[in-house]
Amino acid sequence: MTKPIYDRVALIGLGLIASSMFWAMKRSGLAGEVTGYARSAETRETARRIGLCDRVCDSATEAVEGADLVVLCVPVGVMGAVAAEIAPALKPGATVSDVGSVKRHVIDAVGPHIPEGVFFVPAHPLAGTEHSGPESGFAELFDYRWTLLVPVEGTPRDPVARLRALWEGMGAFVEEMDADHHDLVLAVTSHAPHLIAYTMVGVADDLRRVTDSEVIKYSAAGFRDFTRIAASDPTMWRDVFLTNKEATLEILGRFTEELFALQRAIRTGDGDQLFDYFTRTRAIRRGIIEAGQDTDAPDFGRAKVAK
Ligand code: NAP
Repeated sequence: MTKPIYDRVALIGLGLIASSMFWAMKRSGLAGEVTGYARSAETRETARRIGLCDRVCDSATEAVEGADLVVLCVPVGVMGAVAAEIAPALKPGATVSDVGSVKRHVIDAVGPHIPEGVFFVPAHPLAGTEHSGPESGFAELFDYRWTLLVPVEGTPRDPVARLRALWEGMGAFVEEMDADHHDLVLAVTSHAPHLIAYTMVGVADDLRRVTDSEVIKYSAAGFRDFTRIAASDPTMWRDVFLTNKEATLEILGRFTEELFALQRAIRTGDGDQLFDYFTRTRAIRRGIIEAGQDTDAPDFGRAKVAK
């Protein structure tokens, strides 16, 4: 067990990311007491039942009182409102952070509410699953995954270094990045791919005639992977697209151009173009495996064999 990095941590929002943070902090003794708050009585009740947080509070202000670190783990679209609510109760010298998937919007929405003498260090763990809610978290979620810290200008190094130590203690690799660059990188690696998955599954659903039977029954790896991504939380992803508008539209514009080029190659029978393109993309997959961000084990998607 290591010495706690923070004596008191407050988690606002108790879903996948907050619950994973709680179990990861407990795994390595990174925090003294962890308080938690979620909007609905139902989620707070579930949290109490499963022992998620040392103390579950009935208001956000109660949860943050006396906390050395407050982490906003709510959808990106409500970060500003939650920050406004907790601001008067923040302890001088405390650090406020968040885990939102978009950074420029969160900085603009939360930053103005942070009182003098409190530090704001935005963060984004690049780890997740398609599950949500207080029961979906697990201690290993952040292991060997990147967490990006996006400190705002003028923040002293100490709160940033402390937050880095917390994320490293939770198993993550940590790097610092500028907010706009973060939003562009994530538009390519996460946001646009999610939109494409939502679209592909939506198209299949539109073809009701097929969906009712064949698409589900014979679902092959390509479509199955899309459905997993497209099962992600609707609130979270609505907010991501509404708040990372420009970068996502930029990437989708490029995507559309490439799609048209491949469409044309298929129509004109340009096999060389298709082959070269797929060879290039295969190399990217190899790069991800070499970087330790996935394994090359075949994914049959057949954990439970059902006839
Ligand atoms: P989640 O499992 O859906 O949990 C969201 C939590 O926020 C719930 O406890 C919900 O409470 C609470 N909440 C919603 N609105 C609230 C409000 N106005 N006041 C207080 N609590 C509120 O979400 P998640 O996946 O943990 O995502 C949380 C954040 O992490 C998001 O900003 C997301 O962009 C980011 N993130 C997600 C992933 C991912 O893959 N899921 C990865 C990296 C970062 P109720 O249960 O009571 O509704």
